[in-house]
Amino acid sequence: MNIKDIIIKKKDKKELTHEEIKYVIDNYMNDNIKDYQMSSLLMAILLNGMSFDETFYLTNEMLNSGDRIDLSKIDGIKLDKHSTGGVGDKTSFVVLPLVAASGIKIAKMSGRGLGYTGGTIDKLESIEGFNINLSEEDFIKQVNDINLALVSQSGNLVPADKKIYALRDVTGTTDSIPLIASSIMSKKLASGADKILLDVKVGKGAFMKNIDDARKLAKTMVEIGKRFNKEVVALITNMDYPLGNTIGNALEVEEAIEILNGKGNKNFTNLCLIISSYMVSMGKKISIDEAFNIVKEKFDNKEGLNKLYEFISYQGGDLNKLKINDSYISIYSDKDGYITDIDTLYLAMLCTNLGAGRNKKDDILDLSAGIRLVKNINDKVNKNDEIMRVYSKKEIDKEEFLKTIKITSEKQKNIKIVYEVIK
Ligand code: URA
Repeated sequence: MNIKDIIIKKKDKKELTHEEIKYVIDNYMNDNIKDYQMSSLLMAILLNGMSFDETFYLTNEMLNSGDRIDLSKIDGIKLDKHSTGGVGDKTSFVVLPLVAASGIKIAKMSGRGLGYTGGTIDKLESIEGFNINLSEEDFIKQVNDINLALVSQSGNLVPADKKIYALRDVTGTTDSIPLIASSIMSKKLASGADKILLDVKVGKGAFMKNIDDARKLAKTMVEIGKRFNKEVVALITNMDYPLGNTIGNALEVEEAIEILNGKGNKNFTNLCLIISSYMVSMGKKISIDEAFNIVKEKFDNKEGLNKLYEFISYQGGDLNKLKINDSYISIYSDKDGYITDIDTLYLAMLCTNLGAGRNKKDDILDLSAGIRLVKNINDKVNKNDEIMRVYSKKEIDKEEFLKTIKITSEKQKNIKIVYEVIK
């Protein structure tokens, strides 16, 4: 077996065997296969796709490249949640406390952001003192004590994904369904949860730009889960607009508190209640309606909010010292009308350039940087109304921010939050 023949086989649109996929992962990890050969194979996979079996074998071999977390010392069913990546995605800070407050155990590992999609770990680091590196013993104790712990992905969990993801990032091979599915599912399976809720984003601010691709990705991941005897449910959700009103690390933590306080963006609040209900339904084996009632009660009586406070202080975080910037630059509307579109991707890119995200792996973040939408989709605005606040230590070009907001005389039709559920 040799890598050149395998690359040519994939270039010729033929199906790779389990042995060939194992050979690729093993030999890439021990450096017998070089980056230039691997990137050629990744591009052939991106262009010609993979069958379900190939994707499953790839997931399996990536999973076998490192350690698996053993959560058996945590009593009861353990749930995990993963978003395929969005703009302003602070869903975990709202959903996980609500689900934990509803009696479900969450032992979650998260990553940092790269490019325009933010990372949960960066957001947590905007809270002074928050410890993202618990020992395994403390991690397990915390979940047993308060139902929720969230840490940075540890050293040797799916090293094949780390190496391949870094290569994909610089070789234009990120947006491939089999590569995304195997990357996400190998990490989720290694993290040891019994059941997994996937939030598959679709739209202008997501990897998946259309519903057909999002459905294909969701189905592939759910099927992989089934083959590993894990219950996986995927929600396909709208990522045409920023999630909530903020983009930026500390700003998003602040917004999560507003949401759990019942004072936040309505569409985003509803999305969080729906995702939480699916997780509680899976964890307690009850109907979605029953689960929704439980979640809504935890939301209304602020047990969700208190769980967020409890979890942050348990991990050493001090919310009084959230890295928020008090000063901001206001952007004003240049006409009357309704906000009918937001250039989510460009806005996210502007925020990345403020320091809210990384263009390169070693970029240093400004955790206080970002934007807050004062007016959001379908809101009525008058000329000279404040529509956005920009938090930045750098000079900004206000026109560039204004350009991301489309104002027209007619309102948008109703916006769908969840498109489909794949089980
Ligand atoms: N998130 C991942 O973990 N991997 C991908 O390939 C894309 C999104």
